[in-house]
Amino acid sequence: MSTAVRKIVVILTGIILIPIIVFTALEIHQVKENEKMMQEIYLRQLEAVLFSINQYSNDVFTGFANKLEVYNPKRTSTEVLTNMVSDYKGVLAVHFRDVNSDSSFTIKSRENQILSNILEEIEGEYEKEKERLVRYQRANFMKIEPIQSAYQNDDVYLLAFVIEPAREHYYFCIAVISGLEYLETFLVPKVQQVADEGFVIRFTQLNQSAVVYQTGEPEQEKFYAKTLWLLPDYMLEISIKGETIESIVAERSQFNLMVIGGVTILLMMGAWLIFRNIKKEVQLAQTKSDFVSNVSHEIRTPLALISMFAETLLMGRAKSEAKKMEYYDIIVKETSRLRNIVNKILNFSQIEANKKQYHKQTQSLNQIVDEVLNTYSFHLQNKGFEFSLDLADYDLPIKADKEAITEAIINLLDNAIKYSPTEKEIMIRTARAGKHGFVSVMDKGVGIDRKKKSQIFDKFYRVTDGDIYKVQGAGLGLSIVKHIMDAHDGTIEVDSEPGKGSTFKLIFPLDQNKA
Ligand code: ADP
Repeated sequence: MSTAVRKIVVILTGIILIPIIVFTALEIHQVKENEKMMQEIYLRQLEAVLFSINQYSNDVFTGFANKLEVYNPKRTSTEVLTNMVSDYKGVLAVHFRDVNSDSSFTIKSRENQILSNILEEIEGEYEKEKERLVRYQRANFMKIEPIQSAYQNDDVYLLAFVIEPAREHYYFCIAVISGLEYLETFLVPKVQQVADEGFVIRFTQLNQSAVVYQTGEPEQEKFYAKTLWLLPDYMLEISIKGETIESIVAERSQFNLMVIGGVTILLMMGAWLIFRNIKKEVQLAQTKSDFVSNVSHEIRTPLALISMFAETLLMGRAKSEAKKMEYYDIIVKETSRLRNIVNKILNFSQIEANKKQYHKQTQSLNQIVDEVLNTYSFHLQNKGFEFSLDLADYDLPIKADKEAITEAIINLLDNAIKYSPTEKEIMIRTARAGKHGFVSVMDKGVGIDRKKKSQIFDKFYRVTDGDIYKVQGAGLGLSIVKHIMDAHDGTIEVDSEPGKGSTFKLIFPLDQNKA
C-alpha cells in the first residue's frame, strides 16, 4: 500500500468509519432503552385500565351510598329503603348505626340464615372504623372501606361508610355484599366494554385461586394484576389480546436493529466506494506522473540517436559509404520510432477528448491481419523473432475502421516483442467463434501477473516490478486497443501465465449481412 493510499485509509477511518461505529453503538443502545421504555409504557397502560375499572367500581358504590344519604334513612320508610337496597343487586343488606343516638337498624334485600348470623355479629362492632370514617365524613370525604370479615368463604364481604343525611347527623353504615353477584351486576358490563378494546380481563378469587369470570379465552399466560379495591379478596387481571407485550416490543426492536444494520451497511458501502474512488484517483495521479517521465524517456532516446548520427554524418566522420548507409538507416528507423510514439500520444489525446472518429466499413479481418504481417514481418525477423500466421480459411467480415484495427494489432505485436526478452516466438491466428470472429496474438514472453491483468487496460498503467520496468513504454498501448475494441462493439481478452507467455485476443461481432 502506498503512503498516499495509507493516508486515505487513516482519514476515512477517522472521519467515516469511527463515526459509523459510534453511531451504530449508540443507536443499538438507544433501541434497548426504547425497548425498556415501551415495555413500561405498555404496563402503565394496563395499569391505567385496571385503575379505571377500580375507579368505576368505587363510583358505582359511592352512587349507592349517596342515594342513601339523599333518601335519609330516618325519614324514609323501611319499605322504600328495602326497595332501594334490592335495586342494587349484590347488596344483601345494609346495617345503619345512628352515630348520634347509637341506635341501629338493618335493611335486608333477602332473608337467609347466613345473612341473619352476619347481621347479628356486626351489631355493635367496628367502633374504630366508625370513628375514623366519621372523621373523614366531617372533612367531606365519603370513604368506602372494606372491612375484614369472617365470611369470605361464603363470598360475603363488608363495606363500611358514613353518610350525613342531615347536618352533623351521621350514620355509620355497613353494607353486606355478595361478591360474585356484585361483580356480575356492576363490573362485568364495564369490563366487557373495556375488553372490547383488545384486552382479556378476568376476576380471580384469591381464597380459591380460581378464575370466576373472564371476558374471553386468554391468548397468553401473562396477566397483569391488581386487587379490587372494594373486594380485596378478588384480583382484577388483564392481558393484551394477540401478541404479548414482550413479542411486540421485541419485534419492533428487531425491526429497528435491522434498519440500523441496513443503514450501517449502506454507510460502510459508501465509505468503501469513496475509498475506491480516491484510491483510483491517487493511483491515476501517480501513473500520470510516471507517464510523463516514461514518455520523456522514450522520446529522448531516439532524439539522442538521431542527433548523434546526424552530427557524425555532418562532420564527415563516417568513413565508408557502408557506414554512412548504416547511419542513415538508424536515423530513419529512429525517426519512425519517434513518429510512432508521437502518433500514439496524439491518438490517445484524441480519444481522451472524445474526438476520435472511426470510419467503419465492411472489412475482411483475415485481410487486415495479413496486410499488417506483410509490412511487419521484416521488423519481426529483424528483432530475431520466429512467427507463424494461421489465417482462418473462411472469410471473417467485420464492420470496422481498417486503420484503427491495424493500429490495435500492431500495438499487440509491439507488446509481444517488447515483453518477450528470451523466447522470441509469436503466433498470430484468426478464427470464428459463434457469431464472432477473432484475431489472437500469442507470445512466449514474460507473461502478466494474475492480479495485474485487470489493470493493464487502464490508461498510463504499466507493470513496474521485476525486470519489465526496463522495457520502455508509456502505458498507452493497451488502453488505446481497448478503446478501439469498445468502439467496434468488440472485446479484448487476455490469457496469460507469468514466465510462460500471453495471448491477447481481439473479438469482433461478424458482419451478419456478409457472413
Ligand atoms: P506499455 O507497453 O507502454 O507499458 P501497454 O498499455 O501497451 O503499455 O501495456 C500495459 C502493460 O501491460 C505493460 O506495461 C506490460 O506490463 C503489460 N503487457 C502488455 N502486453 C504484454 C505482453 N504481451 N506480455 C507481457 N506483458 C504485457
